[in-house]
Order: sequence, then C-alpha cells, then structure tokens
Amino acid sequence: MSGHKHSIDFERGAAAYRGRFAPSPTGDLHAGSLLAAFGSWLLARRHGGQWLVRIEDLDPPREVPGAAQRQLDALSAFGLLSDGPVVRQSQRHALYAASLQRLLDADQAFVCHCSRSDLAASGGVHRRCVAHGPRVDHAAPQAAVRLRVADGATVEFDDGVLGRQRQDVAREVGDFVLRRADGHWAYQLAVVVDDADQGISDIVRGADLLDSTPRQILLQRALGLPTPAYAHLPLLLDAHGRKLSKSEAAHPLDPADPLPALRAAWAALGQAPQALVAVETVTQLLSAACDSFSPAQIPQAASSLAAMHNDPGTNAV
Ligand code: GLU
Repeated sequence: MSGHKHSIDFERGAAAYRGRFAPSPTGDLHAGSLLAAFGSWLLARRHGGQWLVRIEDLDPPREVPGAAQRQLDALSAFGLLSDGPVVRQSQRHALYAASLQRLLDADQAFVCHCSRSDLAASGGVHRRCVAHGPRVDHAAPQAAVRLRVADGATVEFDDGVLGRQRQDVAREVGDFVLRRADGHWAYQLAVVVDDADQGISDIVRGADLLDSTPRQILLQRALGLPTPAYAHLPLLLDAHGRKLSKSEAAHPLDPADPLPALRAAWAALGQAPQALVAVETVTQLLSAACDSFSPAQIPQAASSLAAMHNDPGTNAV
C-alpha cells in the first residue's frame, strides 16, 4: 500500500452522516480502541450525524467471554452511546450467506481447497488454485470461499487523514477469503455487508485496518454496494513502539475514572489539551470536545502512549 499526504475537507455538506465503532470482543477496551471510538464519535457529532456500535463477534476461537459486555459498559462509562440498537454480527449469518451466494452465483467468488502451505511459495497470495483436491483437515472441514480478484485490480481512494491511497490488490493480496475453511465468515465480507446494511456513510477506524480498505472497496463493487468515505486514525504505540492490541491486557482502561483516558485519546487525536482542562465530568468533557474539535489537526503518524501520559498538558485537571 502506498500513499502521500493529502488533506480532505471534513466540513463537507449536508449528506446524512452515519458513523460507527465496530470492536471485536477479543479483550477489554484499551487506549487504542478508545481512540477509534472517540475519534469516530467526534466526527459523527461534528457532522450532526449518527454513531452506531456494532459488536464484531464472528470469530469464536478468538472471543473472550464477557468481553463484549465489558466493552459496551466501558463505552457507556466514557459517555459514548450508540444512537441505535447495538448490532451483533453473530446474529446476522443469513445476511452474509445471501451475499456470498450472490457472489458465487455470479462466479465472482469460488470454492478453494488451497491450504496455507500450498500458498507459501507465493507468499500467501492466491492467484489460482494449486491444491489438488479437498484436504483432510478436521480443523477445516469445509473449503474456503474466495473473491476472484482480476489481474491488475488496483484500488485507489482518498483517506480523510492519510490522503490518497493505492493498492494493487491482485498482486499484494490476491484472491481473498470470504468464508474461512473452518466455516467462519471472514471479517472482510461481514464488515462490507454490515456497513452497507446499516447505511454507514463514513468509516473512521484505526490505521491498522488501512490495508484492508482496498479489499473492502473491491468487495463493495462486486456486490454493487456504495463505497463509504474512509478515515484512518493514528495508532497508539506502547513504550516499545509496538501497536497496542486488544488482546494485550497491558493497558486496560479504568471505566471508573474516565477523564484521564478521554484526555489522552483527545491528545492522540492532535487536539489542544487546554480545551478540556476545566471539565470535571464526562458530559462536560464531551461537550467541550465537540465545541473545539478540529479534524484537520488529526495527525498522520502514530503516537506513543507513554509520551502522551508524560505530557503535563494532557494530565492537567
Ligand atoms: N472489528 C474490527 C476490530 O476490532 C474493526 C472493524 C472495523 O472498524 O472495520 O479490529
């Protein structure tokens, strides 16, 4: 994926804005996911739009029991409440099945028996099936289904934070999985179907998902769905410069003491700490944040959680 600096007009017109936050319940809400939640919420509020929460619980092997509810409870403690019913992907299998069937019927998707090791020689990129037939694998009782990606299929889009992006999906990713060999839906299919079904106009999320966006745009085109606007927020790095991950319990948030974490997320979004200095409650903080939020200040580069907490400005009361 390649890109260069480009600034998008965040103050665009009256079209209905609908944003979302879509956590996977693989752990408790951490500083990085709060940043995505708060950033997407702020942009939705800035546009007078709606903000929806969707639980992406399609991967039982990676799910942590109780995490979804704890994430929702934490979001409430941070004052970030879904403007509509919370959708759970685990209850929407029929939607994904119908979309997959459409793609299969149109020969835009195909059944694939290739294993990881079959594709090792091509770096995991699938361009044609190399498996000789169905595998005998109890962990993968079904065949996978992949999207057929045409040679040279290249996607370009303008990211609201990161500017113009371009990916040669055929060469860099290949035919990608829509339903896994273990029978579970792939994230790429479910996210595209749900964003369209929920009428999401603007997808604001962490930059760790930037690389998935061209796949999602190709899939939208294959399904005849509109492509939303995208903005990818800077990642938070831990003290060792590694991305914070939801499954890492290293930086749990304390929902009982929400102001410091919201101030830290605000700073990571490039916003002036002084705007939130005088606030004493979550309600006051969110209202002050809405008043002074400046989308153009969102940085492109990742920031370090440690550096943020050491910044006296972000911790001032
Ligand atoms: N469920 C994905 C995650 O938690 C995010 C999906 C998205 O925002 O598109 O990483």
